[in-house]
Amino acid sequence: MTTASLPILDGAPFKARFETPLRAAARITTLQINIGYVCNLACNHCHVESSPARTAPADNMDQATARRVVDWALGQDEIQTADFTGGSPEMNPNFRWMVEAFSGHGLHVIDRFNPTIIGYTDRRSGAGYGWVPEFLAAQGVEVVASLPCYLKDNVEKQRGRGSYDASVEGLRRLNAVGYGRDPQLVLNLVYNPVGPQLPPPQETLAGEYRRELQARFGIVFNELWTITNMPIKRWRRQLQREGRLEGYMNTLIDAYNPATIEGLMCRHQINIDPLGRLYDCDFNQALGLHVSGRASAYIWEVSASDLAHRAIATDDHCYGCTAGCGSSCSGALV
Ligand code: SF4
Ligand code: SF4
Repeated sequence: MTTASLPILDGAPFKARFETPLRAAARITTLQINIGYVCNLACNHCHVESSPARTAPADNMDQATARRVVDWALGQDEIQTADFTGGSPEMNPNFRWMVEAFSGHGLHVIDRFNPTIIGYTDRRSGAGYGWVPEFLAAQGVEVVASLPCYLKDNVEKQRGRGSYDASVEGLRRLNAVGYGRDPQLVLNLVYNPVGPQLPPPQETLAGEYRRELQARFGIVFNELWTITNMPIKRWRRQLQREGRLEGYMNTLIDAYNPATIEGLMCRHQINIDPLGRLYDCDFNQALGLHVSGRASAYIWEVSASDLAHRAIATDDHCYGCTAGCGSSCSGALV
């Protein structure tokens, strides 16, 4: 790494450019599917800028693409996990049959969502999502539910008024069908900082979440994962407006930890957007940073083994993954 002040991304001067060369591992075992950007919330840190307004056709995976994605994954021996993200994945009409197809063929399925979706009713379509807990439990899906804090004020600062009570109710519904209680029904929670700081130690915070959620609401869960806010998109613009972007970037750069490199999620997965195009991770997808040498390639144009050992496309946002204990879609790395 250099330590000179260099211009990056949008010309802001930070202490160092991210120059760690990254390569994918020998086996790509996870297909992460960003099935659509539509969400019932519009959080201020959302790296894909999801909201209820993301309803353009290109923002949501259509049925033909979904079929090609399922066929591709089921045809690759290496792929063991289908990891759904969004947006709120449940808002895509193809979500349920895709999950059934994957779990029916023995793949491990993960659904990343915000728990408020369970009590949400779409005002335009009238669609409700009360089916989500029972459906996920019946398919044995691992649930990763975001809850930025166990305190109401902090949650509502990021997610808007009413989001805390709706989250609590959603988690209760998940517990009621066995999530967090039945060893087969895993419920992990995700924390991210409210402000431009690194997350606190994961184990310590997990203990606080466990104690507070149990005492206040009787809610139980398996693990808490801490995730660093990435300095991109909506969150980056907010930091810029507040004059805090350079300070945040330098916090990430100063905390660079080479021990995080081995576990970086981009090294073990391939990520696709709603059109089926390839990215190393969801953050690169949000930035339009395609897999090196495969600009605009679609998942069905490659095999999982083609993606092994590939050079990962990096830029300075990668400091968000390598700071401190590291950050990935399954929390801290070291
Ligand atoms: S709930 Fe998740 S996907 Fe939806 S706006 Fe918030 S951060 Fe984005
Ligand atoms: S943002 Fe993180 S996961 Fe994505 S390419 Fe950079 S280091 Fe890898």
